[in-house]
Amino acid sequence: MTSLPLISVDPDARGRRPSMPPHHLADLDLSGRQALVTELGEPAFRAKQVSNHYFGRLVRDPERMTDLPAATRERLAGELLPTLLTPVRELACDDGATRKALWRLHDGSLVESVLMGYPDRVTVCISSQAGCGMACPFCATGQAGLTRNLSTAEIVDQAVYLAGVAASGAVSGSPPRLSHVVFMGMGEPLANYSRVVAAIRRLVAPAPEGLGLSQRHITVSTVGLVPAIRRLASEDLSVTLALSLHAPDDELRDELVPVNQRWKVSEVLDAAWDYAATTGRRVSIEYAMIKDVNDQPWRADLLGRLLAGKLAHVNLIPLNPTPGSRWDASPKPVEREFVRRLRDAGVSTTVRDTRGREIDGACGQLAAAGDTDGDSRAATA
Ligand code: SF4
Repeated sequence: MTSLPLISVDPDARGRRPSMPPHHLADLDLSGRQALVTELGEPAFRAKQVSNHYFGRLVRDPERMTDLPAATRERLAGELLPTLLTPVRELACDDGATRKALWRLHDGSLVESVLMGYPDRVTVCISSQAGCGMACPFCATGQAGLTRNLSTAEIVDQAVYLAGVAASGAVSGSPPRLSHVVFMGMGEPLANYSRVVAAIRRLVAPAPEGLGLSQRHITVSTVGLVPAIRRLASEDLSVTLALSLHAPDDELRDELVPVNQRWKVSEVLDAAWDYAATTGRRVSIEYAMIKDVNDQPWRADLLGRLLAGKLAHVNLIPLNPTPGSRWDASPKPVEREFVRRLRDAGVSTTVRDTRGREIDGACGQLAAAGDTDGDSRAATA
């Protein structure tokens, strides 16, 4: 593991009130950008030019936008591309194939993203909120509470920024082009619904309007906000839905995923199957394996019965240890037995790799706690 401290956290950020950032090109679709540019007294086609730099060439430095008149470059870039993410720290592990970035937002909030390189693809895991209000007790982010929703552009900019890192060849052994985005960083994406959906539209729109990713290469995770799942199904998007189930029975899920007290296992699965039927996309069922909590053979059998014959795939996640947590990962033999029972029930099942564990970049570890000076301030409300 290497540690690449970039900028230490601004001490003045302490005590600032959370607030939304300035408007940015990525908040708007192309026609919105054209209207804004016209309001600024520039011809509408400048919107396309700046968009092409940002999304197409991954360039944000006005000096490099040489097709814009020198006199207006700075002003246009300042209006359309204000700095949203200031790098605080970057950590790399897995021989440079996994890189976690910690960002400071304009109001001092901290969020994180993770870039993961594979031989055939490059994935970024991005945050949709600063902190999270869902209070899942085994999750480092959930323990810190919600600071605020991220803006559309703050969400998109994580992917664009890390696409630029990938394009620079910084991810060893991987293609240089970002291909996949997973909304599995800090926050519950569907609790910031309209901005997340707008961010997805920017990510999939072809350049220069957006980043040009395939909808099928985008995954949105949720703990199960049923009305939002149903709304997402009606958006005419074919992104993958990842449902963080973590328990097949209401008694345990009420504790592990508190939102289950509002929408029960049966309701959330019904919404997931309707999503699969509408989009044709297989739902990914996420299940953190927690020792002696949710890893019993009878729970594997119950999960198998709930999922058999459905358009679903189970992703078992070895629990990542978080500081001070009473939860531990299931032993490997227990995990293998759980997998065997699910597969015997005819349910497609894999165990997720634990990329980024060394740098607290794996699922449930994105707490944005601490900076290069050892400040343990977390993203709290
Ligand atoms: S597991 Fe996800 S939804 Fe639950 S507290 Fe953590 S970030 Fe929020």
